[in-house]
Amino acid sequence: MRKNLVAGNWKMNMTYQDGLALVSEITNMVADEATGSTAEVVICPPFPFLHSIGKLLPQGGNIHLGAQNCHQKESGAYTGEVSAKMLQSVGVEYVILGHSERRQYFGETDELLSQKLKAALGAGLKPIFCVGESLETREADETFAYLEKQLKDGLFHLSNEEFDQVTVAYEPIWAIGTGKTATSAQAQEVHAFIREQIARAYDAEAAQNTTILYGGSANAQNARELFSQPDVDGGLIGGASLKSRDFTEIIKSF
Ligand code: 13P
Repeated sequence: MRKNLVAGNWKMNMTYQDGLALVSEITNMVADEATGSTAEVVICPPFPFLHSIGKLLPQGGNIHLGAQNCHQKESGAYTGEVSAKMLQSVGVEYVILGHSERRQYFGETDELLSQKLKAALGAGLKPIFCVGESLETREADETFAYLEKQLKDGLFHLSNEEFDQVTVAYEPIWAIGTGKTATSAQAQEVHAFIREQIARAYDAEAAQNTTILYGGSANAQNARELFSQPDVDGGLIGGASLKSRDFTEIIKSF
């Protein structure tokens, strides 16, 4: 069966000191028995903090380390870039790929993301692959066609074995950082659609086993309702992952 997962995407926030303090608070609050949550937790801090934060996470616990991006090449003359293998070597397990901010501000295309996925999987990382439509696309009633294309061009080139390692995140752009969360019905509708596309591209078993996260203004108040939907298996949390109490409340929503 698929797992429930709550991932915190810190984006470009926090200093090293703030980050260490936040993780200490979260690990204290999220001791397995204390929350009683069935969710796996992933914390995705900025690159420079990864190694130290990884060291703070209890070995064998349910909190794992994730990165927010990686380069598509294994190594070489790519000044300023970070490879998947480097991330793996400092204890990273997950990597977010295809976030709308990367697509929008850094010109990441489906073609490039296909290469990044391959690089991440090749280094043994588990990708959290993001898809999501803009407000314009939703208002034009083109959400499903848009998502179908993003999934097909960015993700469905993977083999069955590769796809097994992938978590999908549905993040409607209009909901990210806006305080305007998708309703649980909107999220469920899209998640069910994504699962159907996975069944078509792979098979029913792959569809049932894939964890699909919702992201976009999810918080301590709305997480329980969102996570109660049959096809919503957790959240990719931005703003609310920067506050230990809010993030822990979200984890406890399972
Ligand atoms: P917010 O939770 O701040 O809306 O961000 C969502 C997101 O983009 C997570 O990747």
